[in-house]
Amino acid sequence: MELNKCPTCGRIKYIATREAECFDCREKRYENELKQSIRDGKTTSTVFETQIYCPYCGEIYEADGEVAHEEGTHVVECMRCGKEFTVETSVRYFYDTTRKGEGDNG
Ligand SMILES: [Zn+2]
Ligand SMILES: [Zn+2]
Repeated sequence: MELNKCPTCGRIKYIATREAECFDCREKRYENELKQSIRDGKTTSTVFETQIYCPYCGEIYEADGEVAHEEGTHVVECMRCGKEFTVETSVRYFYDTTRKGEGDNG
């Protein structure tokens, strides 16, 4: 990773040399392409996304409470188009490890 100027947003960021845009811009681009694809009817469901996209209109559903945190299937109503769709929430676990005793007196 090197400090480079992102050609899209113009900000100086750490960008892997083979990638043209910064992470934020790539995220936004991906998001917009997915939304467009849903609106065009090419995509009717989304899998393994970090955001909840309405499968009818592509709008991002801002989840909170049990939809965001409780594992399982939830039915929600899109705030933009008013259609109901199901959200399958899966909670993922991440693990950090540290050598025991390092960094302190042990
Ligand atoms: Zn950028
Ligand atoms: Zn919608």
